[in-house]
Amino acid sequence: MTTKAPPRGHLAVLDDESLFCEFVGYVGDACGYDVFGTTQPHQLFDHLEQHPASVIVLDLRMPGIDGLDVLRQFARSGVGANILIASGAESRVMETALRLGRAHGLNMAGIIRKPIDADALRDVLERQAHADLPLSPERLRAAIDAEELVLHYQPIVDLRDGVVTGVEALMRWQHPQLGLVMPSVFIPMAERAGIVGLLTDWALGEAVRQAGIWQRAGLKLKIAVNISIANAPDEGLPERLQWMCENEGITPAAISLELTESATMRDPARLMELFTRFRLKGFDLSIDDFGTGYSSLVHLQRLPFSALKIDQTFVASMLVSEAGAAIVIAVIGLARALGLKCIAEGVESQAMLEFLKDNGCDFVQGFHMAQPMPAADIPVFLAA
Ligand code: C2E
Ligand code: MG
Ligand code: MG
Repeated sequence: MTTKAPPRGHLAVLDDESLFCEFVGYVGDACGYDVFGTTQPHQLFDHLEQHPASVIVLDLRMPGIDGLDVLRQFARSGVGANILIASGAESRVMETALRLGRAHGLNMAGIIRKPIDADALRDVLERQAHADLPLSPERLRAAIDAEELVLHYQPIVDLRDGVVTGVEALMRWQHPQLGLVMPSVFIPMAERAGIVGLLTDWALGEAVRQAGIWQRAGLKLKIAVNISIANAPDEGLPERLQWMCENEGITPAAISLELTESATMRDPARLMELFTRFRLKGFDLSIDDFGTGYSSLVHLQRLPFSALKIDQTFVASMLVSEAGAAIVIAVIGLARALGLKCIAEGVESQAMLEFLKDNGCDFVQGFHMAQPMPAADIPVFLAA
């Protein structure tokens, strides 16, 4: 039986020979990388925006484009990957390119001389995997201590009177090499590595601290914090959170928890107990991304939620598809029947807001009202 190597992050390949891309892809995949290969520089740039790579293999000589321009572009967009130059060019040319990349602040990891056989390439890629990767669970752990994580806050508006009653705390990683990294990149990585609990603790501590600051400034805002339950539920969490609130002088009503679920619930009885303890202590619980993934009706029936958040995909489709509209209306009705508050996320236009209001949704959140922003901008936004 062959077992695949553990996930090692993203490997991106840019080469005008699609066969070489495929070859690197094949070897990279066997080494445990998620591989993206392309012959088009603009496709690589687009891809890297969404998926920061840990390793990039770059052909220096491509028709119509200068590999050095590609390096310059990497530098401008703060690419933090280990970059391997692949080329059949003269060594001196390649050495110069390495030096130039380094002068731009890039992680120039070395040279792949073409032609290269699979074993030699595997060695090179394996070595990269053991080098310090800009995006790895270890690096993420260190980011907590280095205070590189931040919470941005997105206003949540009560549809009855248009008042901002709360904010959702959304985590970002201010990475020294990669710039602002979004949670869709590092939360799944943390879940896979079993360290998402560390992020949860950090986010709760930070949100409670912020709630204290806003309370003392006379701002009445409930802060919603996302909690991943992909890993085993942490039984001490309700007590710890209660203690944090007491310490900061805020009531549990100032914090709510949004539960996202990217893995099947393995132990529903334990989760039920955990959730009930949160509710008994006075924290609100919302089921996030309702209608997708594993957030099923069974959970609504069994678990003590106080609100549900309609997933953005339904909200995005409700004005363009009858099915989308029917789902949103049905979910609002379901929430009402179960005595839950209903929050729509991903509201991007006035028309969407009107539709949700007409159909009895309680709260809205989305770019139409405001983007997530640093804590310091919230009072300014509320005053405007
Ligand atoms: P979510 O909890 O469903 O958060 C809503 C996401 O939708 C946020 O993305 C937000 O920026 C985005 N959004 C808000 N309004 C709009 C809109 O009008 N249009 C569109 N297209 N998008 C909108 P973000 O910040 O990238 O977060 C993605 C997901 O990462 C979150 O989805 C949540 O599941 C997770 N996440 C974020 N922060 C944390 C955290 O502190 N802990 C955990 N465990 N997960 C987190
Ligand atoms: Mg959420
Ligand atoms: Mg959501």
